[in-house]
Amino acid sequence: MKVGIVGLPNVGKSTLFNSLTRAGAEAQNYPFTTIEPNLGVAAVPDDRLDALAGVMRSRRKVPATVDFVDIAGLVRGASRGEGLGNQFLGHIRECDAIAHVVRCFADENVSHVHAGVDPGDDIETINTELLLADLATVERRIERVSRAAKSGEKSLVEEAAALERLREHLSEGNPARTFPEREPVEEALRTLITAKPTLYVANVDEDSLAEGDAYSAEVEKVAAREGAEAVRLSAKLEDEIAGLSPEEAGEYLAMLGVGSSGFEEFVRAAYRLLGLITFFTAGEKESRAWTVREGATAREAAGRIHSDMEKGFIAAEVGRWDEVVEAGSWAKAREEAKVRLEGRDYVVRDGDVMLVRFNA
Ligand code: GDP
Repeated sequence: MKVGIVGLPNVGKSTLFNSLTRAGAEAQNYPFTTIEPNLGVAAVPDDRLDALAGVMRSRRKVPATVDFVDIAGLVRGASRGEGLGNQFLGHIRECDAIAHVVRCFADENVSHVHAGVDPGDDIETINTELLLADLATVERRIERVSRAAKSGEKSLVEEAAALERLREHLSEGNPARTFPEREPVEEALRTLITAKPTLYVANVDEDSLAEGDAYSAEVEKVAAREGAEAVRLSAKLEDEIAGLSPEEAGEYLAMLGVGSSGFEEFVRAAYRLLGLITFFTAGEKESRAWTVREGATAREAAGRIHSDMEKGFIAAEVGRWDEVVEAGSWAKAREEAKVRLEGRDYVVRDGDVMLVRFNA
């Protein structure tokens, strides 16, 4: 999964990116810090994997990962190619989902590109640029499809008409995500930025983390209206705790009255948005978390591990992660009838532990 981080300059994108990936992107107090989009990989924290690796005495623990791209340079006018905008729009198109960071922290020492902290206005500035970019894409497509539709072919005529409605939808300021029609414009939607699942990140002051504030409430309101998700976190705090041990980080978070790190919330929201789930393989050699789309079958899940496993799939032994941990070993879980044998069409559930039997 690849997530593009967008937002106005100085809202905390690089700080967040840094804390997520520790890739060393420069967080500095001026716009256009990051000229080239920065690419980073973050390990997905997962207590279930830790517990499994523990009882299995695994020599290696391999978490699932998420790729992040820090996309800077989106400013007013970006869709017209100002402020390094255009090349960045291209990078956003390659992402599976968008994380839109919104400044909700006050800090007078960090200049704001516009008049002051105003989440609604900031969101609109960015979304306007994304919408304008999409409008241009749709208009080009309308030209092409309308020309081809002169042949009278029904599907093309229908697509051209639906594209007109999509154009209307976008020009009224609505993201392609909320366009009610799918089928005739499916191909167009695949190329549109505002069709992508979007996660708003309210970057708040530490003391607003637990309860939220008027700023983050505004972000949540926009997200709800647009069929998007919202999380509240403090990029600065994430950056600070990224350097701590899990125990220390946990204590620090508890002190602030929050249960888990913003990153964990972030990843959970991204999985929900993209309809992804996690299953595990666990043994002495390694315990590992794998990501598949919701509804994937046992055979498809096996294919994530290795294409040979998908081709030669015979059956999968499946247990629930917590029951395996409770049993203390795979053999014990089997004895206690906590492991079932499932066929190729079994629909994998989040938290399953799988042992695939296959013909090599
Ligand atoms: P970007 O331009 O969106 O990538 O923003 P940066 O991550 O470079 O952050 C701009 C400035 O804001 C830096 O000086 C950061 O230290 C500061 N900053 C980022 N997040 C927070 C936050 O949550 N709280 C406060 N007080 N400052 C932050």
